[in-house]
Amino acid sequence: MSDVEPEVADADAVERAESDADETASRAVENPILEVEDLEKRFGGIVAVDGASFAVEQGSITGLIGPNGAGKSTTFNCITGVHQPSGGRVVFDDEDITGDEPHQVANRGLVRTFQIARELPEMTVLENMMLAPKNQIGESLWRSVLPYFRDEVIEQEEELRERAWETLEFFEIDHLAEEYAENLSGGQRKLLELARALQTEPEMLMLDEPMAGVNPTLERKLLDHIHELREQGYTFLIVEHDMDVIMNNCERVIVMHQGAVLDRGTPAEIKANEQVIEAYLGGEV
Ligand code: ADP
Ligand code: MG
Repeated sequence: MSDVEPEVADADAVERAESDADETASRAVENPILEVEDLEKRFGGIVAVDGASFAVEQGSITGLIGPNGAGKSTTFNCITGVHQPSGGRVVFDDEDITGDEPHQVANRGLVRTFQIARELPEMTVLENMMLAPKNQIGESLWRSVLPYFRDEVIEQEEELRERAWETLEFFEIDHLAEEYAENLSGGQRKLLELARALQTEPEMLMLDEPMAGVNPTLERKLLDHIHELREQGYTFLIVEHDMDVIMNNCERVIVMHQGAVLDRGTPAEIKANEQVIEAYLGGEV
């Protein structure tokens, strides 16, 4: 351990990494489904996201990596309407969704899961699934008192229920449908979270640390499901700490550091950028 690099990169290393990032402009994606331009988010004096720009290729599994505090979750929050960005632009499917409310973003086909799963513990798995829909007519209570709309509501509920069962079967947790969410293991909660996200019939899913606290067997399963869904045409943007998971499963990787994008490219390209890896990820790769 005599020739260990200093933990914080020197100014030269930062400059080299940044000029490398400029050179990767040629790595721009061809058919972006999501484009983030100069995104900025301030919390009082803290600049959590500081001019982040990147694009996600339609139909890809893209990884978003970076050390703790790099601004990954805040970026997710700004894209999906959980936070209002302080600046910049978010374009999804060629439409400007900057500052849209979470349900509007979900209605457009972009959904996310949270670093800490947000299932409702005192409801069953199936009930959790039924609470995740978009455009639910039943939401407008007054309509349900009119006979015509009541039929429509019932019909829509049946469709939802069917979809819920299909999704639970796909994730092999249909045997848990009547179980209270609070009785699920950590890994099963992650599956439920993903299943709920799919209830909204999205085009793209953003997963914030989907493998955290998941045992290796279930992790493999989750990854297989993600690949299978990608084959069906879904796009994924995944925040994940495990570099092997990112490098082995993503065709594109975005590296964030201090609120900005430091590099982006294929896993091979990111791995080749030793300055990035050593200076910012402590040589984890
Ligand atoms: P990551 O997900 O990459 O670990 P975060 O986006 O969670 O990073 O955090 C980026 C920075 O923003 C951190 O310094 C964090 O403390 C700060 N931050 C995140 N959310 C808030 C908030 N709601 N209020 C104040 N500061 C926040
Ligand atoms: Mg985070």
